[in-house]
Formats: sequence, C-alpha cells, structure tokens
Amino acid sequence: MQSSQLSIVWIYPDLLSTYGDQGNVLVMEQRARARGIPVRTIHVRSSDPVPDQGDIYMIGGGEDRPQILGAQRLRRDGGLQRALSRGASLLAVCAGYQIMGTVFGGEEGQPVPGLEVIDIASGRGERRAVGELAAEVDPELGLPTLTGFENHMGVTKLGAGVKPLSRTMVGVGNGDGTEGCYAGRVIGTYLHGPALARNPALADLLLTWAAGPLAPVDDEWFDRLRAERLTAVLPR
Ligand code: GLN
Repeated sequence: MQSSQLSIVWIYPDLLSTYGDQGNVLVMEQRARARGIPVRTIHVRSSDPVPDQGDIYMIGGGEDRPQILGAQRLRRDGGLQRALSRGASLLAVCAGYQIMGTVFGGEEGQPVPGLEVIDIASGRGERRAVGELAAEVDPELGLPTLTGFENHMGVTKLGAGVKPLSRTMVGVGNGDGTEGCYAGRVIGTYLHGPALARNPALADLLLTWAAGPLAPVDDEWFDRLRAERLTAVLPR
C-alpha cells in the first residue's frame, strides 16, 4: 500500500461489468474493512484516465464491442500499464482477462490487439462456453477449489512466463483443461459469479499482495454459497 488507505481502481464499469462482476469490488472492500484496512474505490469510466497510483485494479467481462472499445482506450491511456509495472495487483475477468494479453478475437473473430501486460493470446473457440465451472487451483497458491459461472466464446493460450490459475474439473475455462492464469501480481480468470463472492480466498490473495498478512474472518455465508454451488456440479 502506498498510504495507510488501500486504493481499489474499478476500470470501466460503463463498458465492462457483466454478470455482477462489480460484486468483486464490493467483496474486496468488505474483506479489507473486516481487517481494519481503510479502503477507497475509484470508479474509472471509459472517458476518464486510469490513475496509476492504485493498489488493486479490477476489470470485468463484456460483450465483444465494448471489449474492443475498452482495449483501445486502455492501450491509449497507459495508466493501468504504468500501475502494473510498478507492482500493483490486478484481477481481470473474462473480456478484461483477454484484453490483458497480446491479442483477442473480435466479433467476427478478427484479431484485436490487447495491452500485452501478460503473455497470453486469445481467439474465438468453436462454440460458446456457458455454465458452471469448478477447478482445482495451482497447489503453489494454496487456495481451495474455484467455483464460478462462465459465458464466453474466447479460448486462451498461455505463454511461457504465465501459469494456469487452475485445472478444470467442470467447464471450459481457457479451453485446454486449464482456467485463468497468474503472473506476478496479475490474476486472470473467465469466472463470473461474481468470482470473489464465490472464491473469497482469491480476494484475500490479492489483498495480501497489496497489504500484507491478513487476520482470518468469519466466512460462514461465503462457505454456504460455495458448498451449494460446488455440490451442484461435482460428483459426490
Ligand atoms: N466477448 C468475450 C468472449 O465471448 C468475453 C465475454 C465475457 O466477458 N463474458 O469471449
């Protein structure tokens, strides 16, 4: 954290926030405050510059056209790229995840340049991936099973410096048996739900990167939601 206040930057709520992705911001704020960490969230509309001094950046999913527009504006703006190069954290979901790579598929499958902040490349898959997803997180991260909802045409290939966030048990994710990625302090995922309400441990990982070790909190309601969603899709 740069000051005693944690700053969350929510990128382009007017373009990219499908399936309740804005809930990720609410969960992050709530989990920081539960630890006594003061938080301030900056909502950056697509007509505004992205501040480069934030601690945790978040971006959501979207339809193809807003995704292309969002990528063009972020490329031109440069604020997010500067923030990440000084070590800020990022949670990027679905369209936001694809935008972080070198390229993604537009509405006709045409290649659209991304921000090149992580070494991933996306294109359009053969059919839409839609439904519940469950996946085992890379053991190095020490997090419980991921649960979420996916709805995307895109498939994503990870480059050498990027690790899969998880291996899918149910659902499609990146399209090759893995889901999402992580590299440095960047996490990308196809998961909605919203992702952090379904997976509060992911929120805590991002918070730890930004603010250091965290005290435990009461997760009863999160645990109930997770149990309900996971038992609905995983064989007993
Ligand atoms: N437009 C992208 C795709 O279909 C992302 C969709 C989304 O963010 N839900 O792959």
